Amino acid sequence: MESRKAIIIGAGIGGLSLGIRLQSLGFSTTILEKLDAPGGRAYVRKVVQQDGVWSEVKQRAPLEPNQGFTFDMGPTVITVPHFIEELFALEQGKAMLSTPDYPAHVLGENARVREGNSGGEQTSKYVQLVPILPFYRIYFDDGTFFDYDGDPISTRTQIKALAPEDSAGYERFHADARAIFERGFLELGYTHFGDVGSMLKVVPDLLKLDAVRTLFGFAKKYFSNPKMQQVFSFETLLVGGNPLSVPAIYAMIHFVEKTWGIHFAMGGTGALVNGFVKKFEELGGTLRCNAGVTSISLKNELGAEPVGRFSRRIAKGVTLEDGSSLEADLVVSNGDYANTYMKLIPSKYRTWNSDAKVKISPQSMSLVVVYFGFKADGLETNLKHHNIILGPRYEELLKDIFGRKILAKDFSQYLHIPSLTDPSLAPVGHHVAYTLVPVPHNGSRLDWELLGQPFVDKILRFLDERGFIPNLRERLVYQSFIDPDYFATTLSSYLGNAFGPEPILIQSAFFRPHNRSEDIERFYMVGAGAQPGGGTPSVMMSAKMTARLIAEDFKIDSSILG
Ligand SMILES: Cc1cc2nc3c(=O)[nH]c(=O)nc-3n(C[C@H](O)[C@H](O)[C@H](O)COP(=O)(O)OP(=O)(O)OC[C@H]3O[C@@H](n4cnc5c(N)ncnc54)[C@H](O)[C@@H]3O)c2cc1C
Repeated sequence: MESRKAIIIGAGIGGLSLGIRLQSLGFSTTILEKLDAPGGRAYVRKVVQQDGVWSEVKQRAPLEPNQGFTFDMGPTVITVPHFIEELFALEQGKAMLSTPDYPAHVLGENARVREGNSGGEQTSKYVQLVPILPFYRIYFDDGTFFDYDGDPISTRTQIKALAPEDSAGYERFHADARAIFERGFLELGYTHFGDVGSMLKVVPDLLKLDAVRTLFGFAKKYFSNPKMQQVFSFETLLVGGNPLSVPAIYAMIHFVEKTWGIHFAMGGTGALVNGFVKKFEELGGTLRCNAGVTSISLKNELGAEPVGRFSRRIAKGVTLEDGSSLEADLVVSNGDYANTYMKLIPSKYRTWNSDAKVKISPQSMSLVVVYFGFKADGLETNLKHHNIILGPRYEELLKDIFGRKILAKDFSQYLHIPSLTDPSLAPVGHHVAYTLVPVPHNGSRLDWELLGQPFVDKILRFLDERGFIPNLRERLVYQSFIDPDYFATTLSSYLGNAFGPEPILIQSAFFRPHNRSEDIERFYMVGAGAQPGGGTPSVMMSAKMTARLIAEDFKIDSSILG
């Protein structure tokens, strides 16, 4: 029997993870990616020297070791490695949709891998993961820092030194964050909240755990020292959440990291993306790049064009930028939630995801990310692989970014130097780095053509003058940057959001876009724009949740669900 055809729009980590899962379920899957290479937010910028000038090269193959600068443009902090292991373990007819998600051996504080290869047996065939310690070095504006490594003893010692008044608070925070992690992640992580009933069932628990107040409010309950309040709330910024407004359920991130560690894919996150593509293709899937989708084709049950939103609307395929079309039994979008609905499906076919609803849904913030390569000779620095450099203001800066939507004079940043772990990513004697600065999304109407380069200069000057990378401006051999316009145009994200719909209470669980469309039959969403949300582990979870819904809708033989 000919296998059923699936189309996935977008080759981000969510789209690729779902592609692997659909192949294991017996679908014949084509992933259509508008860019020239897969990865989405995890696209790789490769820069080599040609005729004395450092410039970007477009090629699918990785650079030779030390041939040039390899920049992971997006995710760098890899968590929950067994999600990756599960994807690499899938086979046609072995879908592992009902297996336990958390093998006992990876649970528990002492199970965190501290050295060597932290990928499992299957992962190691495709990519090498290594643990990173500390997880983050968090610098405060007065020059002091906190090494967050998930180890309770070192955490206690550092709190005692920096904020002794908060030692007891940490113990209470730890216990309460663990309870949130156990209920919110281990037990409910994969729940697809498709109806109000599913949501109502968990509300009493969330109230009991105090997980609906804001994360920053939650942190303030336990810590009186502003430094500790920041250390135990900043992490949601890495998935687009404002600590001042995300619900405290996100305190689970602290525990997710602590339980399974933070890892790096040798060769960069791009090596993980390439591993996913290889696995997908080995299972028989097809990836087509330079294949932007312009619309989703809809039919009614008779195979004719539907008459508005009151007749059945079934996704039957897509039309591409070159005017060609492809048919399929189901279509999934891994693209931005708002733009998927507003640009690919005419409004006359949508009720639940109407333009009005989509437009008022708050979007996560955007970013300026500066990619730079610099000479390492004689460099003395305290920097680690992952560095958070907090500015002088925390709450007010967050209000500027998310609320007032203005470009503040000060900034906080996340500085990533992967060549400290994998020197092959830069030419010999050089480092490769990026620094990421949260800024308002394009609802701000800031003109990035005008503001971009001066802002970047200011960031690099700061790193130099404040001694993070002494003489950076003389050392610099390459720099480029992206801003909200890149997210809006290249990645087709509404208002240039960097992480999808903002993860606030009214856009979480049932209130977050659903993975099975309410408007269109056989149409699904996967990735940061859908449930459970943004971040690489979440989009892998999203792929499993969407695969479960598809298996249910297509009544897939339970013997292969595994
Ligand atoms: C700078 C940055 C740093 C980050 N750091 C981390 C981190 O350290 N750890 C972490 O866990 N998370 C991190 N994140 C978040 C994480 O990267 C994302 O949540 C995740 O990668 C999103 O994956 P996705 O599959 O949902 O979508 P995306 O990666 O956005 O992929 C969607 C794809 O769909 C394609 N597409 C869109 N529309 C169309 C169309 N019409 N036709 C064809 N293709 C289309 C796009 O081109 C894109 O390739 C970071 C994000 C950014 C931006």
